[in-house]
Amino acid sequence: MSRPSLRQRVDDARVLRGARQRRRQRLVVERRDGMRFDIGGRWLTAFCGNDYLGLSQHFSVVGALQDEAARSGAGAGGSHLISGHTATHERLEREVADWLQVPAALYFSSGWAANLAVLQSLLEKDDLCVQDRLNHASLIDAARLAGCRLRRYPHGNSEAAQRQLRGDPEVAAMLISDGVFSMDGDIAPLRDLAMVARLQQALLYVDDAHGIGVIGEEGRGSVAAAGLDHQQVPLQMVTLSKALGGVGAVVAGDAGLIGHLAETARPYVYTTALPPAMAAATLAAIKLARREHWRRERLGSLISSFRDAARHHGFRLLDSDTPIQPLLCDSDAEALAMAGALRELGYLVVAILPPTVPQNGARLRITLSTLHAPEDVDGLVRALLRARDETTRRLGGAA
Ligand code: PMP
Repeated sequence: MSRPSLRQRVDDARVLRGARQRRRQRLVVERRDGMRFDIGGRWLTAFCGNDYLGLSQHFSVVGALQDEAARSGAGAGGSHLISGHTATHERLEREVADWLQVPAALYFSSGWAANLAVLQSLLEKDDLCVQDRLNHASLIDAARLAGCRLRRYPHGNSEAAQRQLRGDPEVAAMLISDGVFSMDGDIAPLRDLAMVARLQQALLYVDDAHGIGVIGEEGRGSVAAAGLDHQQVPLQMVTLSKALGGVGAVVAGDAGLIGHLAETARPYVYTTALPPAMAAATLAAIKLARREHWRRERLGSLISSFRDAARHHGFRLLDSDTPIQPLLCDSDAEALAMAGALRELGYLVVAILPPTVPQNGARLRITLSTLHAPEDVDGLVRALLRARDETTRRLGGAA
């Protein structure tokens, strides 16, 4: 018997994805100016990124990056536990801890790495990990890597979470939820989950990738907005790549747990520290995110006007008050056709299909940013109407 060829398997899978129109293709962005993206020589207005506060190109963020790079170079030159941990990294951790009002914080190279780190470092084989069904892929993969017992409860259902935890009172358990769900845009019932975690003696971990900077006073995120502190949520993870416009993540919370992660989490220990210039840029972004309330206010009013107009025209939106505004489609074909038609009309909006979302959950994941003008939102709604007409015609009424 001959050994299966991995190359052949990959080729077959590509052909199959092509036949099902499931190829994931990368766009090449030539230039970016706020929410205008030059793609193939055409400037499009983007409603698809995660630069919610418009900080990624802010002059003081870019200036901090340049100044620090001029001082300390392009890279950290080592991992945190060897020689890569600089005073700027240290300052960033202290700033995030101060912002989130928690005792300690640890700086990771990405949200993905941070989630792998937390679960792999804390959970053992027989432990129980109970997660919302719509949690981010990195949390699901992290549980699999940790080798623990993974249970997933129906989205947002804290009673189901409680039942799943109740079964095994003798095993150590972690309860995990996104703060803001990346594909639905809704906010987790964190107060209920905190209560469940307390009753079931589970450790509550919140991934607030999409809440930080955007929600709550000073943009402290969904944990603080729910009135919870590090006693109730001993660990939370915030990414620095979305509202904060850079890259990386911080896990923040209980000092003992953070200390343990710093010594044992493999995705922390065995990787190069992010460039100190990136830490400096993020410090500048946090300063803006904390002080410039107008960014959140303006975003809030863009969100309301988009929702009002889209619902007025009969589009199906999910129940979300955050910058993530999913517009549901009846089929994968409709989502793809709508995204294509919008692009022709000058708008960059991405269709999200299963398996990224559940079966029959195809949607346009529309995201708003402080940098959008009210006229951009009006223009998008007009383009959605034209795209819907065209799609209905093309798909023969099936849309
Ligand atoms: N958690 C959530 C909820 C996310 O949406 C993402 C990224 N889209 C991540 C974690 C991973 O973060 P990063 O991009 O920094 O790896």
